Amino acid sequence: MGKAIYQPKGAAAEYAKYACNFYIGCSNECSYCYCKRWKWGNVPILKKCFKDEKHALEVFEKELNANLSELQKHGLFFSFTTDPMLKETESVTAKALFFAITMYLRRKSSELSANISSLFFLMSCSNVLCTTSSAI
Ligand code: SF4
Repeated sequence: MGKAIYQPKGAAAEYAKYACNFYIGCSNECSYCYCKRWKWGNVPILKKCFKDEKHALEVFEKELNANLSELQKHGLFFSFTTDPMLKETESVTAKALFFAITMYLRRKSSELSANISSLFFLMSCSNVLCTTSSAI
């Protein structure tokens, strides 16, 4: 699908049909975390495919725009590779949510079908599925 928004494969697909990862690594260092297995560090690092957060958000916005109807049906999971609400990651997560909500509201009033009435987000890492969810 894209660099920011993608379709998880294997076991990850059981959690979410679509997901978004901006950062890799997590400072929470939970003992049971699969991050250790993949040798992700305890400092979140922006994925290499992004030049900086501005670029990451530009990519996200483009991919969101191209797939909004599908994301409305299935939701969008943040994130499999970090806690999306760490002090290092929350800014880009919040900006991405702002883009998504703004785009949804713009489209809703113009081209989207009236029976598609919500846009769901799940925020968590997949190890801790006590998620924060939001729907508009
Ligand atoms: S919060 Fe999630 S990603 Fe971070 S260390 Fe704990 S289980 Fe791993």
